[in-house]
Amino acid sequence: MIEIDGSVGEGGGQILRTSLALSMCTGQPFALSKVRAGRAKPGLMRQHLTCVNAAAEVCGAEVQGAELNSQELTFAPGVVRAGDYTFNVGTAGSCTLVLQTVWPGLMMADRPSRVKLCGGTHNPMAPPFHFLERSYAPLLRRLGAKAELQLRRLGFYPAGGGEIEAMIWPAMDPMQPFDLNERGARVEGYAECFAPALPRSVARRELEQLGAGLGWSAEQLRETPGRQNEGPGNALLVTLVYDHLTEVFTAFGEKGVSAEQVAREVVREVRAFQVSNAALGPHLADQWALPLALALTQCGGSASYTCTELTPHATTNFDVIGRFLPVKFATAPVAGGFSVTVAAL
Ligand code: ATP
Repeated sequence: MIEIDGSVGEGGGQILRTSLALSMCTGQPFALSKVRAGRAKPGLMRQHLTCVNAAAEVCGAEVQGAELNSQELTFAPGVVRAGDYTFNVGTAGSCTLVLQTVWPGLMMADRPSRVKLCGGTHNPMAPPFHFLERSYAPLLRRLGAKAELQLRRLGFYPAGGGEIEAMIWPAMDPMQPFDLNERGARVEGYAECFAPALPRSVARRELEQLGAGLGWSAEQLRETPGRQNEGPGNALLVTLVYDHLTEVFTAFGEKGVSAEQVAREVVREVRAFQVSNAALGPHLADQWALPLALALTQCGGSASYTCTELTPHATTNFDVIGRFLPVKFATAPVAGGFSVTVAAL
């Protein structure tokens, strides 16, 4: 039984999700105490509980403490079963985080799986659908773990109602880890504004401000038509495509925040990324660690990547990954950011 203290480092939901994902992949049970103790409302919220239940369903786990607000959880996994799954957060909580929880386990299964997810698709503090589709999934495919994602319907806080479908195929055995120390040349950059059920002026103002802030032309600024019954909600996305990876930066609109402020927020994130030569932005830097470490445990050796920032999310994730997998993380400052080396032990 691996004992994890949920209050260390970032002290948030990522400790739970990484533990669930790696428990499914390795068959090791864990006991998590002080769940999300670093947050204002600690314990399992609806979104976290959906992750626990989804993981348990996929691998037939025995679970104790899977209740709303619970601050203790034990999870003893069974064997991961590929299949057709539907997971519904039931609120506007992020369903992309549920997908991230079951994805590593399902890619280790012997048959493909289809996963339908309902809830929020574009939530603050979670990977937006387009980030998973454009940034994360292509890197996993390069490792040898094929997955395809489709957005059926946008879902925002507070209405929710979003829908995603994911096909996850069995990964190559062994997967093929690789270094990711450079972005390569920039291929294209574009911005999209999703603002279903909001006045069209919101999207126009955000894109205008963003275009001015980044010095972008009108062709790079895209208003996306909303589908019926979507929203209300607002996400402003910047996608930067490079030879070796794609990064997606997102800002969210909310009541009381002007369209201009939303644009300035994402411009700030994009500029912080552009002034550095490091390969990955702050979010990919914490999320890339898990699949890379999994691949390295299969074939041995080491691999590295550079990133613009090392957030507490990232370093906390490295610690949790190291509790489940025989890998060691080493970090060092480099010009414009940090380098992360993951070595199989
Ligand atoms: P809590 O911390 O309140 O428990 P949580 O369950 O949402 O909340 P966090 O521990 O904050 O979990 O983890 C959020 C995850 O979402 C992290 O992996 C982070 O990198 C990712 N993330 C947050 N914002 C973005 C973004 N704009 N793009 C991509 N990924 C993001």
